[in-house]
Amino acid sequence: MKKRIIPIFVPHRGCPHDCIFCNQKKITGVSTDVTSEEARNIIEEYLPTIPKDANVEIAFFGGSFTAIDEKTQNELLSVAKEYVDKGLVSDIRMSTRPDCISIDILNRLKEYKSSIIELGVQSLDAKVLHDSARGHDIESVINSAHLIKDSGIKLGLQMMVGLPSDTEEKCIETAKKFIELDPHCVRIYPTLVVKDTGLETLLNRGEYTPFTLKESIQIVKKLLVLFYVNNINVIRVGLQATEDIQLGKGIVDGPYHPAFRELVEGEMIKDYLHYLVIQNKTVSQIEIKTNNKNISKVVGNKRSNKVFFKDNFNINMKTTPINLSEDEFIIVLDNNKEINIKSEDMYKELFNIYSL
Ligand code: SF4
Repeated sequence: MKKRIIPIFVPHRGCPHDCIFCNQKKITGVSTDVTSEEARNIIEEYLPTIPKDANVEIAFFGGSFTAIDEKTQNELLSVAKEYVDKGLVSDIRMSTRPDCISIDILNRLKEYKSSIIELGVQSLDAKVLHDSARGHDIESVINSAHLIKDSGIKLGLQMMVGLPSDTEEKCIETAKKFIELDPHCVRIYPTLVVKDTGLETLLNRGEYTPFTLKESIQIVKKLLVLFYVNNINVIRVGLQATEDIQLGKGIVDGPYHPAFRELVEGEMIKDYLHYLVIQNKTVSQIEIKTNNKNISKVVGNKRSNKVFFKDNFNINMKTTPINLSEDEFIIVLDNNKEINIKSEDMYKELFNIYSL
């Protein structure tokens, strides 16, 4: 069943913090606080555009939902609950801070039929959390994650890559600790320098250098493999493009690319093919037969994977769209050796290739 999300942004409202990377008003593209009437209007506008058989979710994104004053939370939630009670919506999702969760809060959210809570964790390294002015510690993440799971509400975890003091090793450690918490879903965001944030000040003073696009891809591919082999659904990689989320506009620096996830997945396929080439020594041609939807990833951004094999190994790479499911690939080496592989098995191979 198709999933459809009705997003309601709750920018900065109620959040007493000022994380170094955050300017919620820029991130959400909305700068006014949403009222319950506006929330109702948003839902009513979306519903007629959604196919009848879709699984519909109302998602309160943006600020820290459970840090908003309780009365406003309840007003917004009771509007959302009405649509769950009418059978028009199946889930209510919200994002919040790890230190804004308690048993009482969870009980109240459950009364309004909230079903998914995403914690903005960002990192599970103490120095990264400190240098990013998050204002919470690792302990509060672990406690809240357990409380959410024990309450029966699904747990989502969000991480950022490239915050101050961050490294590849710390990102991988964070992903491994996420896996121990067994979340229902994960989001991964490369850190971008947003206008009017503490990070912009650090950047201008020369005290912060964002990860490059290339570095971010090299790290995120390993995170994806870790999550995929552990059957954790990664529901988003990279910020969604909006009018403000573009380099030179709301974003002043950082590894922004509108198709970041595709770049990462293309790199993973390249790495697997590279491994096959090394194993099979004298290859002069690779043909990849797969679903048409995978072809651009296989070829790479601006044909980068084709160029890589031609320039480094003098190998011609050919792609053939065929009627296969999206998670299957047939790789033919020199017209004589055929490898049929499913994505999940490719991820297992990559887990070893990346020494995770
Ligand atoms: S807690 Fe969330 S909303 Fe508040 S400043 Fe930090 S990132 Fe922004």
